[in-house]
Amino acid sequence: MTEVVILGLTGSIGQTAVRGCKSFKEQIHICGASVHSRVEQAISICIENGIKNLCITSDESCPENTGIRIFRELKEMLISLKPDVVLNGISGSAGLRASVAVIETSPVLALANKESVVMGGKLLFEEAEKHGCRIIPVDSEHSAIDELIRSEGRENVSSLIITASGGPFRNMALKDLEEIKPEQAVKHPTWNMGPKISIDSSTLANKALEVIEAHFLFDFPADRIEVVIHPQSIVHSMIRSTSGQVYAQMSPPDMVFPIMRALLQYNFPHEAGKALDFTNLELSFSALDFERFPFVSDAFECVRLEDGYPTVFNTANEIAVDAFVKHKIKFTQIRSVVRDVLDLDWSGRINSFDEIYEIQAKVKEQVRL
Ligand code: NDP
Ligand code: MG
Repeated sequence: MTEVVILGLTGSIGQTAVRGCKSFKEQIHICGASVHSRVEQAISICIENGIKNLCITSDESCPENTGIRIFRELKEMLISLKPDVVLNGISGSAGLRASVAVIETSPVLALANKESVVMGGKLLFEEAEKHGCRIIPVDSEHSAIDELIRSEGRENVSSLIITASGGPFRNMALKDLEEIKPEQAVKHPTWNMGPKISIDSSTLANKALEVIEAHFLFDFPADRIEVVIHPQSIVHSMIRSTSGQVYAQMSPPDMVFPIMRALLQYNFPHEAGKALDFTNLELSFSALDFERFPFVSDAFECVRLEDGYPTVFNTANEIAVDAFVKHKIKFTQIRSVVRDVLDLDWSGRINSFDEIYEIQAKVKEQVRL
């Protein structure tokens, strides 16, 4: 039996993980979870699914006598439960501290929180190696690439091809982008996800983060990472082999596949979700329009520069998205807010997680809304 902890239980990834684990009852037991503010919802999910331990990471109070053991410190819960795998489905940069806690205490980190990889960069992987923690990517594109590299052999891969749906505004006239409202940006055409990642998908900041994520996860330089538009989100990513052949990974757009792949550590006793139906399936691919989606160019720049730049990109984008959701800035200003901060000097090697948190604090001071 694999003992699993789900961080971000109430979120889209957390909920999908609970659904997936139900169909692998013989193999997986959810021993613990974490929640931030939606405590009552988390308690109900725990009761419904027999989850006996919950870490509340905010100051929210908790109802008494629920039969659930409550923790206030994530590391304390992980040390106490000793899970085999921890899924990090926390949203945003708060996920980095959680990833570090998992690396320091647990053998496997199933990582959906891409911000951890973007900000933690090489340091995160060095720490994981030091503590003997294996990181298995959950982001669908990276899960696909991980699978393809495992089957083809890294030495046979010449480049990574990350697919992007292009979001809801792929074909909108450029002049109309300015008037987009948060309610429109939060609706993704193919995936059902949390609000932050949905808005990032509409600006392609999500794809930008994924380019940086791929660079650190697989150690590929900028000129060996490609991005291609694929609106159906069926091909989750591809690899180009040194022989010129391209290999793709396909499945319906349901996060249950990459989540269960990571939780089961590649050993599937049966299917994780619905089979791909080819009855009426058209797949298309086209080049990315960098003028429409300049965030992706910024990401390649961050990959080349490394140092503080990926953290700056992520932090400034998080602040800008929050301001957009609160109607303080327009849709098109999200990128200009980020670009202005990226233009400052963030060079200098990162040697500790504290330095990353310091850069975050500096970005908060520098952002002009
Ligand atoms: P959601 O917004 O749906 O859920 C976020 C979860 O994180 C909630 O459980 C929330 O708790 C918790 N959380 C929020 N803030 C904090 C904090 N400061 N400290 C601790 N926990 C916190 O997000 P998603 O599930 O969509 O995304 C989670 C992560 O997975 C993101 O990094 C995203 O980029 C990545 N990802 C998501 C995909 C998806 O399909 N959704 C696909 C690929 C990657 P509470 O409810 O109490 O606020
Ligand atoms: Mg993704």
